[in-house]
Amino acid sequence: GQLRSHTGDGPRGYGSRASVVAVASGKGGVGKSTITANLAASLAADGQRVGILDADVWGHSIPQLFGVDRPPVAMNGMMLPIEAHGVRLMSTGFFVDDEPIVWRGPMLDKALQQFFDDVYWGELDVLFVDLPPGTGDVALTLLGLVPHAQLVVVTTPQLAAQRVAYRAGRMAADARMRIAGVVENMSAAESSAESAVFGTGGGARLAEQLATPLLGRVPLDVILRRSGDAGVPAVIGGEESAATGELGRIAGAI
Ligand code: ADP
Repeated sequence: GQLRSHTGDGPRGYGSRASVVAVASGKGGVGKSTITANLAASLAADGQRVGILDADVWGHSIPQLFGVDRPPVAMNGMMLPIEAHGVRLMSTGFFVDDEPIVWRGPMLDKALQQFFDDVYWGELDVLFVDLPPGTGDVALTLLGLVPHAQLVVVTTPQLAAQRVAYRAGRMAADARMRIAGVVENMSAAESSAESAVFGTGGGARLAEQLATPLLGRVPLDVILRRSGDAGVPAVIGGEESAATGELGRIAGAI
């Protein structure tokens, strides 16, 4: 796709030519991880070498979305990502149980760095990074590690979500991170007013504010929720819908 930059900054565990796409949101619960999982699975189904680094330390839902519940193994001092549905996964969720842990800034920075340096990703075409929600520092830490990382910002159509997502996008843009575009999730299923549960227009307004393309609008769809619970990303789950079609189209544009 035309959004790739391929300006790798030297050899690393993930392959210097991988494009790194970080996925951010202002608020939690807008579907950031669901979108990440489906974009990754869609590209992998197309034959690309894809990884997801799940840096959403509080909400780590990538293991669940891919149906993985075993910890990764180490080899020669490197951790091997777990491959599921064609995607190589590494998540903070692999290393913690249900006890809450307090990740302070420096620990988080260190963990992120280890996920790049101490994980044997192999050659990748695309590495997605599922960022924690909020305007936090993780995107900036990532930018320090991977200067060519790009950001995709996920919002719902709702004004409240759009506003916080704008702060997250703006902070990254101020740090000179490239914003690849906005994905609106939980959009109205069709043009009827009743299905616009979260209102309309948040994605388009956010894209305009950040001067970046609106990559697509993914409708509210029970298939996405159900497949997330079942551990198989919807785009490869065999049931097609407007939502899975849109996710496949967005993946093609990335
Ligand atoms: P986040 O990563 O932003 O916290 P998640 O990806 O965990 O959000 O999604 C939050 C919840 O919403 C999950 O239960 C997920 O299955 C559901 N969900 C996400 N997107 C959609 C959608 N377009 N339609 C229906 N349910 C969705």
